[in-house]
Amino acid sequence: MLKKEIKAVHDKDLEAVLKNLNILDDVSQGERKCKFCDCIINMTNLQALFPESGDIKLVCEKAECIKKMYEYVGEKGIG
Ligand SMILES: [Zn+2]
Repeated sequence: MLKKEIKAVHDKDLEAVLKNLNILDDVSQGERKCKFCDCIINMTNLQALFPESGDIKLVCEKAECIKKMYEYVGEKGIG
């Protein structure tokens, strides 16, 4: 159930997903960071995203960050 809240992002619909969330411009301009390692998120390294506190948190492609995301979302009970 929790995992449904996490959107795995694939290249072909990445732009559409970001646009729907109104963060496509932010990502394009390098204004979004990975929630866990603070690296700049771009169209290449964006792996997943999830909602928190009315905002969208982005997660980069590092295995460590993806693991943290699942632990974090599980603990917080997002959704
Ligand atoms: Zn990261």
